[in-house]
Amino acid sequence: MSQPPEIIRASSIERWSDTADVIVVGMGIAGACAALEARRAGADVLVIERAGDGGGASALSSGIFYLGGGTAVQKAADYEDTPEAMYDFLMANGISPDAAIVRAFCDNCVAHFDWLEAQGVPFERSYFPGKAVFLTTTTCLMSTGNEKVWPYREVAKPAPRGHKVAREGENAGSLAMEALLARCREAGLRASYDSQVTALIMDDNQRVVGVRYRKTGEDHHARASRGVILSTGGFNMNQEMLAEHLPHMLGNSYPLGVPYNDGSGILLGQSAGAVTQSMSGVIATASFYPPSQLIKGILVNTRGERFVAEDSYHGRTASFIIEQPGRKAYLILDSEIFAYPELTDFSHHTLVDGWETVEEMEAGLNLPEGALQRTLADYNAHAAEGRDPALHKHPDWLKPLNAGPYAAFDVSFNKSVYLYITLGGLKTTARTEVIGHDGEVIAGLYAAGACASSVSRDGKDYASGLSLGPGSYFGRVAGRLAAGA
Ligand SMILES: Cc1cc2nc3c(=O)[nH]c(=O)nc-3n(C[C@H](O)[C@H](O)[C@H](O)COP(=O)(O)OP(=O)(O)OC[C@H]3O[C@@H](n4cnc5c(N)ncnc54)[C@H](O)[C@@H]3O)c2cc1C
Repeated sequence: MSQPPEIIRASSIERWSDTADVIVVGMGIAGACAALEARRAGADVLVIERAGDGGGASALSSGIFYLGGGTAVQKAADYEDTPEAMYDFLMANGISPDAAIVRAFCDNCVAHFDWLEAQGVPFERSYFPGKAVFLTTTTCLMSTGNEKVWPYREVAKPAPRGHKVAREGENAGSLAMEALLARCREAGLRASYDSQVTALIMDDNQRVVGVRYRKTGEDHHARASRGVILSTGGFNMNQEMLAEHLPHMLGNSYPLGVPYNDGSGILLGQSAGAVTQSMSGVIATASFYPPSQLIKGILVNTRGERFVAEDSYHGRTASFIIEQPGRKAYLILDSEIFAYPELTDFSHHTLVDGWETVEEMEAGLNLPEGALQRTLADYNAHAAEGRDPALHKHPDWLKPLNAGPYAAFDVSFNKSVYLYITLGGLKTTARTEVIGHDGEVIAGLYAAGACASSVSRDGKDYASGLSLGPGSYFGRVAGRLAAGA
């Protein structure tokens, strides 16, 4: 399905099967936070979840929340951070960022971190100083974005903001969801599982007043007297929507999520007249590091030219690779820094070959004659002085690549396997009200999480944690507002 469903008129409903003050559609991190806050604000809340239980992609995730401004973990690690520095960074790094959304998130981040901990989401007071994609230990704080990358490091003082939930393994997000779902049960939330919302219901004043959902082969109509919150996740499982907005992802890239991240919330919003935003925004990744010594290599395209500072966040690097001719790129290494990329199980970067000289490597990679030799000569001359005037890679990652033999990994998009999540969705205000084509908010309709266009809108401005962090924060905002608090 890639077309919005029909809107149902409230006047056509003969019998409502359920009523609530607030209906939350989807019980991932955004939905759980929304439902909890709406309930605590005194609303009767009905959660409608398509799966047999809550969790969604959030429960599969690595559990990194992008949070800052001076959280208790940042303080314990002796990192100074302020809402202002966080805002300056996110605005500078952002691809058409919404200042009001970024401002609301940054200004409330410390309180939000405290709230998450108060719900039982545990964050260790510990810090990982290295460069990694995700941690499988319980260590919490890590740099997960472009804070130290030029020019952003000159705009705002870099601070690590990736906060990982304290569970070992690859899906620490499950612990966050276990805690939040337990709080939801304690709060007495009503939930209908195995229930797919298939349409929104509007009254004659164009207010969203309920939903139709399908359960055990039958349609039900539930009325929401105060509001409906959409929190159904992204659309990377919807082939038709991908074909329309992100056709290049339909190769051998791999969508990260649950099967029900099929964009239904976005389509439901559109059925009520909602505008979408940044639908071609995607965070794709096939990181060539760890080990971090590989960052001292260079990436070149089929012209033999560099095109991105190699110390960029891996999602930013991937976005630049996708823009190169043929979406092709090679990681060039010398013998001093050679190692196999550790995430090869996921990414399948292939070692092209090893060569004694740069000339042989250039020929072996079919690069234009002299191109790689020029690129390396220029790079090496400046690296020897601790500079990278072309792309400003940080001096920590600079060294001349002159110790043969040399090697190259093919890191091309659709040759390697890129994992991805979608970033586009419903356009909202910073209060999570869904915005319609006339620029006005659609009464009674709110959206949060990956079905809404939020802080990050593009792989170039993503940082690990920019789904769970804003998703949980704006979920809470939606819950309170819909409840009338
Ligand atoms: C392996 C993996 C690792 C990740 N790691 C991180 C990370 O460390 N940090 C980070 O920030 N992000 C990470 N992400 C991305 C992040 O998990 C998601 O973007 C985020 O969890 C989305 O939250 P959500 O609440 O919007 O959606 P979800 O958690 O997907 O929840 C949506 C829910 O809505 C339900 N639903 C869908 N349609 C309907 C319908 N029509 N009716 C009723 N219910 C419906 C679904 O069944 C689902 O339960 C990762 C993702 C994966 C898969």
